[in-house]
Amino acid sequence: MDPEFVFELRTCRWAERSWPPAGTQDVVVARQLGTKRRRWDTVVVEVDADALARRGRFGRRRLDSDLLHVVRNAPAEWSWYQDALPDPGCPWRYVRETIHRADDRDILDVRKQGNRLQIRRRYRYPDWVERIVAIENKPDLDASAARALRGQLERDVALSLADEVWVATRSTGNQVEPALLEEMPVEAGILTVDGGDAEVAWYPRSLDVDSPGTRILERPDGGKYDQSAARFEYVPGEEKRAKRLEIAERAYERGWRSYTKTMRPDCRHFQLRHEGATMLPYCGAKGRCQTAAECSQSCSRFEPEPPAWRQYGWPIDGGPGKGIQRLLERRRERERPSPHS
Ligand code: SF4
Repeated sequence: MDPEFVFELRTCRWAERSWPPAGTQDVVVARQLGTKRRRWDTVVVEVDADALARRGRFGRRRLDSDLLHVVRNAPAEWSWYQDALPDPGCPWRYVRETIHRADDRDILDVRKQGNRLQIRRRYRYPDWVERIVAIENKPDLDASAARALRGQLERDVALSLADEVWVATRSTGNQVEPALLEEMPVEAGILTVDGGDAEVAWYPRSLDVDSPGTRILERPDGGKYDQSAARFEYVPGEEKRAKRLEIAERAYERGWRSYTKTMRPDCRHFQLRHEGATMLPYCGAKGRCQTAAECSQSCSRFEPEPPAWRQYGWPIDGGPGKGIQRLLERRRERERPSPHS
């Protein structure tokens, strides 16, 4: 049976082509993203494609929270930076460092007037993120896996950082057992994935991402989420909004094919196999799809590829940024006036 990693790649590919399950939406898909405390397997950022195109002016690299603070608050006219920007909540010298970073990246106008550092907005940072959807991949979702996952999903629901939380599982051809559904919080959706296709077994509830959320710090063993028994803290809506944008920025930079940067396509056993529209890494030595973790510097079966073999396109299936480029290309095609109009 394929490892969870391969299942995750299939889910990412499916989401990139077919999200949401009943409709069409422009998306940026990434994997293994989240916060310091919680990493989601697959992150689907639903986007406004026009705004995403404007986001492109800031370059392919992500804007971290400090850069976002500066570029989003930069004034339209030249101003002393301390007049223009809201109190950063840290010494101003850190803001000056960020301004110089923004200047180096050509995303902010910066000049010195006498002793004073002045800034001016180069581009308006667009509102490109519409919704964020978190998907947990569990190819073999039996009752005990569902029980193990429940705590995590309850945390996700209580914090409500993502607009929707889903579990993706391998389709077995049978209905998802009602007993298994009972193990899951009702707010979490369930997708059954079969190769390049997916069906909804349970629709999720939209979470309130604008209101304060609850971060569960500790919960009674195995118990269901219960505010009276758990230790928790409130997370203000503003903090959640900032975190969501940081996650979206990381998704924008990385895409879901970033695993290609750590795997070993220079190994003679490394192959790419087509599965429908998806290309999956395959290890000839192991006779199966390998995980990103095992196909690394430390793999004991690594053998260098003879230079004459360099025939594979790389990175796999177009690299991390290609999904976004395709999305924008489609958008341009849609907007291009037809020759007959
Ligand atoms: S032998 Fe190891 S390094 Fe080579 S393709 Fe297989 S997993 Fe990757």
